[in-house]
Amino acid sequence: MYRDTRAEVSLSAIRDNVAEIRGLLPEGVKLMAVVKADGYGHGSEESARAAAGAGADCLAVAYLDEALTLRSRGVELPIFILAPIHPAEVMLAIRHQLTLTVTHAEWFRQAEMYWDPSGKEKLQVHVKVDTGLGRIGLRTREEWDELVPWLQQDCIEVDGFYTHFATAAREDTAFLLTQCARFLEMKEWSQASGIKVGHYHCAGSNAALRFPELAMDMVRIGAALYGFYPENLVQGVNLRPALSLYSSLIQVKLLRKGEYIGYDNSYVAEEDEWIGTVPIGYGDGWSQSLQGTEMLVEGRRSQVVGKICMDQLMIRLDRSYMPGTEVVLIGSQREATIAISELARHAGTVSQEISTSLSGRVERIYKE
Ligand SMILES: *Cc1c(COP(=O)(O)O)cnc(C)c1O
Repeated sequence: MYRDTRAEVSLSAIRDNVAEIRGLLPEGVKLMAVVKADGYGHGSEESARAAAGAGADCLAVAYLDEALTLRSRGVELPIFILAPIHPAEVMLAIRHQLTLTVTHAEWFRQAEMYWDPSGKEKLQVHVKVDTGLGRIGLRTREEWDELVPWLQQDCIEVDGFYTHFATAAREDTAFLLTQCARFLEMKEWSQASGIKVGHYHCAGSNAALRFPELAMDMVRIGAALYGFYPENLVQGVNLRPALSLYSSLIQVKLLRKGEYIGYDNSYVAEEDEWIGTVPIGYGDGWSQSLQGTEMLVEGRRSQVVGKICMDQLMIRLDRSYMPGTEVVLIGSQREATIAISELARHAGTVSQEISTSLSGRVERIYKE
C-alpha cells in the first residue's frame, strides 16, 4: 500500500507472550490461542502461525467463516469455534475438522436433518455452560439432562466442557468465585453422566494470568497473546504489545489565536499554535472517541485537537516540523510510549476494541 499510516505486528512478541504464559501454567495445561476477529486486528493467520510456532496446542475463532478462512490458508491445527454454528452447516464443520460449541439439545435435533453419521470422522464438540456471564450456554440441570443422550452417540466426541467468566478483569473476585463454584457443580453433572470429556476449561487471559490454579485442562488465551492484560492485577508477568501504529505529518501550519480546527469548529486556538495533519481517521477505525488523546512526534506528546474526520485528524505541535515527520500513534519513540491501554481508557473501552477496529485500509506489516 502507498499510505503513510501502517500497523506493525511483532510476531516475536506473540511468540514470547505464548512462552511467558506457558511458563505460568501448571504442567500439562493446554493453551488454546484465540485468533477471532482477525487475530484481534493483528491478522488471524499470522497470529495463529506465530502462536503455533511457540507451542500453542489449538486455535479458537468466533465464527465458522473465520475457521474456514484459516483452513483455506492451510492452517492445520485443531480449530475450535466459540459461537454456535447453524445446524445446517454440521457436515461442513466435520469435513474441515472443526470443533463446535453446543449449548442445547435443540441444536442436535435440527442438525440431525443435515447429518450423515456414516463417515469415519466424529463430530467434536465442547459443551458451553453459562455460570453468570449471561451470554451463551446452558444454565439448568434440565437442559443438561436433555443434552446427554445426544452426547452419548458414537458419532460424537465431547472434547470439552467449559464456561466463561464475566469479571476476570475486576479486582474484586467475589463474582468470579461464584462462577467457579457453579462451574464445579455443573462439572459434577457431567461426570455423573459417564460421558468422557476431553477437557474442562474456564479461564480466558485474565483469569489464566491472575489465577493459574484455575486453568484446569486448558486455557483460552486471546488478549494476552497480543500483550493486552491488566498490569495492575498481574504480578511477575511481562507481556509485550505486538501492535504498533505509525503515520506521518502530511501538513504543518501555524494557526493564529481564535482560528478554528475541524468540523463544527470543534477546536479554537487559544494562542498562536502549530498544527499538524495526520492521515488517519474514523474510516480507519480511529474513532471520534479518541479526540483528546496524544501521539508522539520526535518523542514529544502531541494532542489530537478538534473532531476526528473520516480520513484525517489534527494534532497540536510544540513547534514547526517538516511534513513527512514520523508520528507514533501506538508504540514507542525515543523515551516516550503511547500504550494502547491509555487510548482505551480515554475512549472508555478496552485495548482489543481499538485493535479490532483498525480497518483493512490500514496495512499490517509483519516483523519477526
Ligand atoms: C474471546 C473469548 C476468549 C478469549 O478471551 P481473552 O480475554 O481475550 O483471552 C475466551 N473464551 C471465550 C468464550 C471467548 O469468547
